[in-house]
Amino acid sequence: MKDMMSPESLMMTHGYHPEWSEGAVKTPLFLTSTFAFKTAEEGKSFFELAYGLRQKNQEEQLGLIYSRINNPNLEILENRLCLWDKADDCAVFESGMSAISTTLLEFLKPGDLLLFSSPTYGGTDHFINHFLKKIGVDAIGFYPDQTKEEIMQMIEATGKAQQLTHIYLETPANPTNDLVDIAMCKEIANHYRTPEKEVIISVDNTYMGPIWSNPLQHGADLVIYSATKYIGGHSDVIAGAVLGYADHIKRVKTLRTFLGNMASPHTCWLLLRSLETLKIRMEQQARNATDIARFLDDHPLVEQVSFLGHLDEDSRSYRIFKEQYTSSGAMISFYVKGGEKEAFQFLNQLQLIKLAVSLGSTESLVQHPASMTHAGVCPELKERIGIRDNLIRLSVGVENSRDLIWDMGQALQVLQEKQVAVPQLV
Ligand SMILES: *Cc1c(COP(=O)(O)O)cnc(C)c1O
Repeated sequence: MKDMMSPESLMMTHGYHPEWSEGAVKTPLFLTSTFAFKTAEEGKSFFELAYGLRQKNQEEQLGLIYSRINNPNLEILENRLCLWDKADDCAVFESGMSAISTTLLEFLKPGDLLLFSSPTYGGTDHFINHFLKKIGVDAIGFYPDQTKEEIMQMIEATGKAQQLTHIYLETPANPTNDLVDIAMCKEIANHYRTPEKEVIISVDNTYMGPIWSNPLQHGADLVIYSATKYIGGHSDVIAGAVLGYADHIKRVKTLRTFLGNMASPHTCWLLLRSLETLKIRMEQQARNATDIARFLDDHPLVEQVSFLGHLDEDSRSYRIFKEQYTSSGAMISFYVKGGEKEAFQFLNQLQLIKLAVSLGSTESLVQHPASMTHAGVCPELKERIGIRDNLIRLSVGVENSRDLIWDMGQALQVLQEKQVAVPQLV
């Protein structure tokens, strides 16, 4: 029966039984570093499984040993996250970056070639182009508007096509909402796959998942989250997650055991609470974003709005959008008329919306990509991907959209007054 239920119906109960904890309806916080074995024989058998010394029996679960390996809060959270993406298994981390770096470290080795979509999150970009490069992993980036043929030519031009083992995607791309075609990347992966060598596709689904997109259904092998964003959703916790096939996640969890970057029980407990409202939060955020995008589109001081609900129906992006997403999401990027000065005037004038990086939270957040999240991006790449000085990124929260529109309206109004006021002073 439960197999037929929707994830939102199971987020309060799945994977936890009140009889484990004095009848407590809510999962308690298991603040313990270690777990008592009933007998020495039981301890031995748990370790045999943990160290892979024997195969698991059909019904057998990995027993609780030590909180770097497993903990009830960690396991219940991982089981619940699996429901949304219909994944076999999940590994939760203390940050999105630790989920990303641990995954790339597990699946890449010196000499390998990595293909990644650009732009990608600044931390990911740095890890690929600095750390991975240092240990001998080559990487090439492609842009969302490139065709399969162009990308394959780039791969061939490296002279290392046979060493391609991983394709890392971030879609929609931050901050421009550009879309990457996962199915097209799957064709590229299949082309370079050999009986000896997998080509694994990972997708950073932080912007749209797990409610509006499930990349595993579109050919991805792994889906990655900064759970700091929508999944956490309250700007009070840093966390990350990776989901996928059982054998892949087993490898990720094994490396996690040795790096020791699993999420703490307290982080997991906060995320369990967040998951209960994930769907209604995201739905309200998407409704608000639709209202705000319409307002911005009509505003004379806004030059251009980048929102997935406003794609040209004849475009390639629209086709990918219809294929991969069920909502236009709650991230809007827009260009105000003017340059950095006007963008800053607008940001400084906002009263309700907070000026801060991060996204996906209950409160609306704005930031200036050119000088903040993407300050480290080289000028040519900024130009290529549209990160200009008048670009604002807005993460829409759950407030009443009327109040958000009022706030943006009054902040844009100041631009108009200042633009008129300057010539009068001369
Ligand atoms: C924030 C973010 C990350 C990094 O996650 P942290 O939880 O901050 O470590 C990775 N990818 C995307 C798309 C993000 O927005």
